[in-house]
Amino acid sequence: MYIKNPMMFLPGLLLSSAILAGCNNADNHSVSTDEAGSASRGFTGHYPIQIVCTIGQVAEMVAQIGGEHVHVDALMGPGVDPHLYRPISSDVSKLSKADAIFFNGLHLEGRMSDLFVQMARNKATFAVTEGLQSRSDSRLREPPEFEGMFDPHVWHDVKLWADCVADVAKMLSEFDPSHANDYQENANAYADQLNKLDQFCKDEIAKIPENRRVLVTAHDAFGYFGKAYGLDVFGLKGISTDSEKDIAHQETIQNMIIQRKIPAVFVESAIAPRTVEALVEPCRDAGHDLKIGGELYADALGPAGTDESSYLGMIRHNVKTIVQALSTEIGN
Ligand SMILES: [Zn+2]
Repeated sequence: MYIKNPMMFLPGLLLSSAILAGCNNADNHSVSTDEAGSASRGFTGHYPIQIVCTIGQVAEMVAQIGGEHVHVDALMGPGVDPHLYRPISSDVSKLSKADAIFFNGLHLEGRMSDLFVQMARNKATFAVTEGLQSRSDSRLREPPEFEGMFDPHVWHDVKLWADCVADVAKMLSEFDPSHANDYQENANAYADQLNKLDQFCKDEIAKIPENRRVLVTAHDAFGYFGKAYGLDVFGLKGISTDSEKDIAHQETIQNMIIQRKIPAVFVESAIAPRTVEALVEPCRDAGHDLKIGGELYADALGPAGTDESSYLGMIRHNVKTIVQALSTEIGN
């Protein structure tokens, strides 16, 4: 059972409701104040603070805010699907040795939920989306097919992600108050970059003719992106990649593509391209020359050494790829 907003706060430890949300039965996993243990006392070890994160987007945010005071390790590299990711024994060891853990939350790392509950008993464990949830942020998407849960892909709305930056600065400051000023300063600098990126997204997407602002991808990761920047979004799979949609759903999307003369659809870096490629042939059989518009980074950053290996580069790449493919008229 999912509890949307248990609002559970412990002294010195912001225990994520997303931790509880990940459990099969949240009531069985309530964590008492006693169990918070040493985490409630904040950081007392040697610098840099050893922090383990799940996805690259979270790792980058924490590294940017923490600066020289933290050492950040990400468990999930390029091309890794966080919905399906099961922690291996070396992950458990890294998490156990860490001074603090940061993860996305909102059930993104669905198969690590029980582990986060365990870790939160004696370690500072933070969901970066906790603030959005505890404030009941009206921008949080709650698609009916996700059965009462929020859409976890908040980083695709750059403004929303910038709010998470402010929240993470507070979490780090609470954990390590002696460097609170540095964390705040670093967070402000990173948020400035994100605000510029948000404007870039708006300016670029506005270049696509209005009737072609339709984004078809492998899974429903781009709902926040569509809402923030004005595109209709369709995913062949659901919000989580382990949910399959049926043939009727695929046919509905095919018909929409043909009717609205959408020139291109997009594959994703962490999902086999066949899901999206299956649309091409039926559309071409119907006389609509549908193209694969390129590869988008939905849930994982790009390979090391590329511009897309950073969060900012990932968003820029997605926007450029989408604008280029959708600006071209069908048949050209
Ligand atoms: Zn996803």
